[in-house]
This record gives sequence, C-alpha cells and structure tokens, in this order.
Amino acid sequence: MVLDNLGGSLRNALKKIASANKIDKALVDEAVREIQRALLQADVNVKLVMQLSNTIKSRALDEKPAPGMNPREHVINIVYQELINLVGRGADIPLKKQNIMLVGLQGSGKTTTAAKLATFFQRKGLRTAVICADTFRAGAYDQLKALCEKQGIFFYGEKGNTDAPAVARNGLEATKKYDIRIVDTAGRHALEGDLIQEMKDIHAVVNADQKLLVMDAALGQQASEQAKAFNEAVNITGVIITKLDGTAKGGGALSAVAETKTSVAFIGVGETPADLERFEADRFISRMLG
Ligand code: GDP
Repeated sequence: MVLDNLGGSLRNALKKIASANKIDKALVDEAVREIQRALLQADVNVKLVMQLSNTIKSRALDEKPAPGMNPREHVINIVYQELINLVGRGADIPLKKQNIMLVGLQGSGKTTTAAKLATFFQRKGLRTAVICADTFRAGAYDQLKALCEKQGIFFYGEKGNTDAPAVARNGLEATKKYDIRIVDTAGRHALEGDLIQEMKDIHAVVNADQKLLVMDAALGQQASEQAKAFNEAVNITGVIITKLDGTAKGGGALSAVAETKTSVAFIGVGETPADLERFEADRFISRMLG
C-alpha cells in the first residue's frame, strides 16, 4: 500500500510510525488514537472501532516482526491488515448467468442502482434484463424503464399491477434468454412488516443467486438495525453502498456489513448508470479515512 495514496488522517498516523526512531507503547497509542478519530468521524460503530484499536495495539506490541521487516514496517503492516479486516474483502459477484434481487429502504438509491448494475453487466458482455417488482412507489416503473431504455437494457414491468410477486414471476418468464436478471423490489420509508413480508414473497418466487442490500452512505448507527432486518428476511449476500460521491464516508453502512457478516459488493459514486464501482478495500479505506 502506497502511503501517499491514503486519506489524510490515516496517512498522518502511518507517517508518524514510519518516521519514528523507536516503536513503543506511546507511539502506537498515539497512532491508534488518530485512526480511531478518523473512523468515528466516518460513522464507524464505536464497538468496532474499539475492537480494531485493541487488536492493533496488542499485535503491534506483542507480535515479532516477520523476517526482513523492521519494527516500523511491522506496525504499519498490522494497521493495514486490521483495516482490511474491518472493511472486508468484498463480495464475489461472478460474471455468469444469475438472478439478482435488490432490496433496501426507499430513497437508498435502489432504482438507480438497478440500472447501474445492469449497465455494469451489459458492458461485460452479458445479456442483461431488469424487472421492476417495485409496485409500491408511484413513479418507480417509469423511472426504471426510462433509465433502462436509455442504456439499451431490456426492461420488464407491469404498470398498475400491485401484485409484486406475480410481476416478478411474469418477468422471469419473459426474460428467460437473459444471462443476468435484476429484480428491483419496493422499499418503504421504514422497516415495516408488510415490506418484509413482500420481500420474502418475491424472494420465494425469484430464488435469487444474489440478494443485494442497497444502503445510503449517509446512514449512521441505524444502518445496523436495517441490515439485520433485511438479512433475517432474505439472507443478504452482499451490500451496495450508494452516494459515496458525497460527503458521507459510509462508515455506518460499513459497520452494518461487518456486524451482519456480509460484504460490500459495489459502491455507488454518482447519479448516472456508469457511476458504479466494484468494491476495493484499499480505495474504500482511503476514501473513508480521507
Ligand atoms: P430508491 O427509492 O431506493 O429507488 O432510490 P432512487 O434510485 O430513486 O434514488 C434516490 C435518489 O438518490 C435519486 O435522486 C438518485 O439519483 C440518487 N442517487 C442514487 N444513487 C446515488 C449515488 O451513488 N450518488 C448520488 N450522488 N446520488 C445517488
């Protein structure tokens, strides 16, 4: 990892270690404090921050450096490894025939993300279709249809039909020849019983290979509660954190990912269908601690 590519606070903390004459408890404590501050500012859950801090401290002082590594490199390496552990390696979404179901609260960016994901797979040469099973939000159908048509992506929806599982079933029937079938589901403003039930019903029909939870980077501590509820309902296989192009650092959503033991699959970095990136731990850490 190149120090100069890192975000400000993390770079400062690691530079202090890199230029120290001697690695001792005071130095490690100071560097950890700086990393803690940055993580908390990014909305990472306090419990996770404390766990990470304690692990870094004890490893840095107790473990012997690997052969050929000086004590400074040793500590920097531990900090880096533990940060990677925190953000995870990312969900593996293979480029093969599969059904993908998107879930999330209203406003999280689900509809936009459906078009972004479709664009991503289409550009990889996979035949991609989008099915609008969001029969709840007025406007979802038109919004998704317009986004897909602009990208030349096959769109299936049934305007006026409020039976979301039936729309999903018909959509799958109509898109059999496609490699990737993305099913957008309805969100609500909050976690309500009917949302959870509808999601389960659609899930039973779609039997998706991937169930991706779309979360707004600006979510703070309530991200965990959301992720837990969605995970219990459909057993999510990955998370897409949206709106990372804004000021939010995504630490709340990231904590939810860590707590539910899932991983981040993609990140959203803008409003256009091209603004989707595969999750990369290094870049995420730099962005979060920038
Ligand atoms: P849904 O209710 O979950 O389907 O949310 P939408 O897809 O309609 O998105 C809500 C708003 O967030 C829209 O104005 C989107 O353009 C915007 N949005 C979605 N993803 C991103 C993103 O990654 N970055 C930015 N800046 N805006 C986004």
